[in-house]
Amino acid sequence: MEQHAKTSEDLCLSGLLFDELTAVCGKMGEDFPPFRIRQIEKRIREGCSDFEAMTELPQELRRKLAECYHLRSVTLDGVYADPDGTVKLRLLTADSLAIEAVILRDKHGRHTACLSTQAGCAMGCVFCKTGSLGFTRNLNAGEITGQLHSINGCLKADGRPPVSNIVFMGMGEPLLNLDALLKSIALLCALPGTPANRFSPRRITVSTCGLAPKILEWADRAPGGVRLAVSLTTARQDLRSRLMPASSALAELKDALCSYQKQTGRRVTLELPLLGGINTHPEDAEALAVFARGLSVLVNLIPWNAAPGLVFEGKPLTSPSPKEAARFVRELEERHLPVVIRRGKGGAVAGACGQLGNAVALGQKQKQYAGNDTGKTE
Ligand code: SF4
Repeated sequence: MEQHAKTSEDLCLSGLLFDELTAVCGKMGEDFPPFRIRQIEKRIREGCSDFEAMTELPQELRRKLAECYHLRSVTLDGVYADPDGTVKLRLLTADSLAIEAVILRDKHGRHTACLSTQAGCAMGCVFCKTGSLGFTRNLNAGEITGQLHSINGCLKADGRPPVSNIVFMGMGEPLLNLDALLKSIALLCALPGTPANRFSPRRITVSTCGLAPKILEWADRAPGGVRLAVSLTTARQDLRSRLMPASSALAELKDALCSYQKQTGRRVTLELPLLGGINTHPEDAEALAVFARGLSVLVNLIPWNAAPGLVFEGKPLTSPSPKEAARFVRELEERHLPVVIRRGKGGAVAGACGQLGNAVALGQKQKQYAGNDTGKTE
C-alpha cells in the first residue's frame, strides 16, 4: 500500500468528489470498481460517519477503509435550543477549532441550515460577534458539509424532517473561501443523493458582506440557481465604512451587482441589520433607494440581535425599538422598495444573525437529542 497523506483533512473522505474519492481509494491497492466508489460516495452524502455501517461493502474492505481513513470532518460538541425552535450546534474540527451552525425552523416545520465557511472572520464588521473574534482559518469542503450532516443527524434523532434550505450566513465571509464553498455546494447538490442531502441550488443562498471583486468571480463560477444576499447595512458610504471597514466602496459594489444581475438575471437580497439610532434614519432610507435604483432587489431588515461587548464608536450597540423599526419600514415603502422585516430568531442561544462565536449559550439548557454524541450541558 502506498504512503497515505499525513493530515487529518487528507485522511477524511467526507469532503471528496467522486474523482477524488476514486483516486484516494485507488491508493489502497484494492480493486475499486466505479460502482463501489458510488456506494461509498452515496453513504458519505447521507452523512454516514462509520465505515462499519456500510454493510453493503465486504467486511474486509470496511476494515481496511477504517484503518486508513475516517469520515468525521467535524464532531458535535454542544446543542443549544431556543424556545423559539432555533437550535445552535457547536462543532469541533479535527484541530479542535470551535465553529457553529444553526437550525432555523419556520412555522410550517421546515428547516433551514445556516452554515459557517470560516473559523472566525477577518472582515471585522462592528455589529458582529464573529467579526470580533478575528480570523483563524478557512474551513474545507468536508468541514462545511459536515455541519449539515450533524444538523440532519440531530433532526433525525428528534423525529423531525431534514433540512430543506441552506444559507451560508454563519461564521466567516463565504466568498473569501470560494473554492471550498463551491466544492461544498457541488457535494451537496451532486448525485447520488437522498432526499436529505440532495439539494437544488435554488434552495441555497450565499451571503456576502459585499466584496466587489469576489462578487464578479462568483457570477462567473457559481452554479446556476444559487441565490446571493449582500449584507449592505446602510447605503451611506461614510457610515458603512465605519460599520464594515473591510467591505468594498458602495459605487464599486453597485457596479459588481449590476454585472452580476446582467450575467445571471437573479434578484439580490440586500440585508440590513437594524442598529438602534444608527442606520434607521430617513437619510438611510433615501440612500438605500438611490443605491437600489437600476437593481432588482428585496430588502431584508433584521433588527440587530444583542451580542455582549460590541460597541460602535464608544457606545454599546442596541436593537431598534419596534416603533423605530416600523418607521424605517414605512420610509422604505414610501420609496417603493420591496421590504420584509424578520423577527430575530435564536437570540436566547446566541444563534441569531451576528451572534455566532458566543461559545456559551446565554443561560439555556442544552437540548437532549436522542443519539446526540455530546454529553455536555451548559
Ligand atoms: S457579518 Fe459576516 S463578514 Fe461581517 S464580520 Fe460577521 S461573519 Fe464576517
